[in-house]
Amino acid sequence: MCSNCNSIQAKFWCKKCETNYCSQCYELDHGTSSLKIHISIPIDQRPVIFASCNQHPGEKLKFWCNSCRILVCSECIILQHQSHAYNKIEIEASNKTKEQQDWFMKTKSILDQLMKYTTELMTVNENPTIEKITKTFKSLRAILTKHENELKEKICTIEKRNKDLVEIFQNELRRKQEELSKRNKDFEGIISVKDYTKLLQGHQNSVNYLMMTTQELSAHKYPLTTKYRIDEIQELQRTVADTTQRVHIYEWQE
Ligand SMILES: [Zn+2]
Ligand SMILES: [Zn+2]
Ligand SMILES: [Zn+2]
Ligand SMILES: [Zn+2]
Repeated sequence: MCSNCNSIQAKFWCKKCETNYCSQCYELDHGTSSLKIHISIPIDQRPVIFASCNQHPGEKLKFWCNSCRILVCSECIILQHQSHAYNKIEIEASNKTKEQQDWFMKTKSILDQLMKYTTELMTVNENPTIEKITKTFKSLRAILTKHENELKEKICTIEKRNKDLVEIFQNELRRKQEELSKRNKDFEGIISVKDYTKLLQGHQNSVNYLMMTTQELSAHKYPLTTKYRIDEIQELQRTVADTTQRVHIYEWQE
């Protein structure tokens, strides 16, 4: 930063003034002829500036005492810090720079990692738990629907078989009905014309037929239909309800 205006990035270092300048301030401050002889260098080539020692006038604080954690001059070292761990300021600065850089990198890396992790937590688009629930319930519904259809089909088959049996039986009855009505018609015809010869000749045969048919019909030979009932369906409902209740979401903090 320019030491003059304190607002613009410094670009030059005046060797004489020992000051950072932006180009504008440098020109302004070095306008007079006596100052025109000052020499400026780019800011990145600025030499290390040492502060003066308060205790030893004329001496620069060119060392860092690691034991006392203070800046010291060569006089200070001779008098007080001879046995301490001290270093040239440049070496110490380079060590400290490296140490701070390492810490910055370490901290930044942990921060970045946490940021990445939390961002991932927020942007989960495929939730495996929800997928598992969907898959399981879908498969359960499929099992239930399949079995429901199988049960209904089984009943349909039984009903169909029963209906066929009754139909066959009814056809037999209808056949008997037709025969009976034909014979009855013949009989009525004979009576009406008083054909007693035919009546008496055919009487026994006719009675035999009627007796036999009556016997047959009274024997209760109903078609042998299949009965059925559904077992365990209440149990199924209870068990499924109970087991479904047991499936739940378990929460914990990590
Ligand atoms: Zn300036
Ligand atoms: Zn100057
Ligand atoms: Zn010391
Ligand atoms: Zn000193």
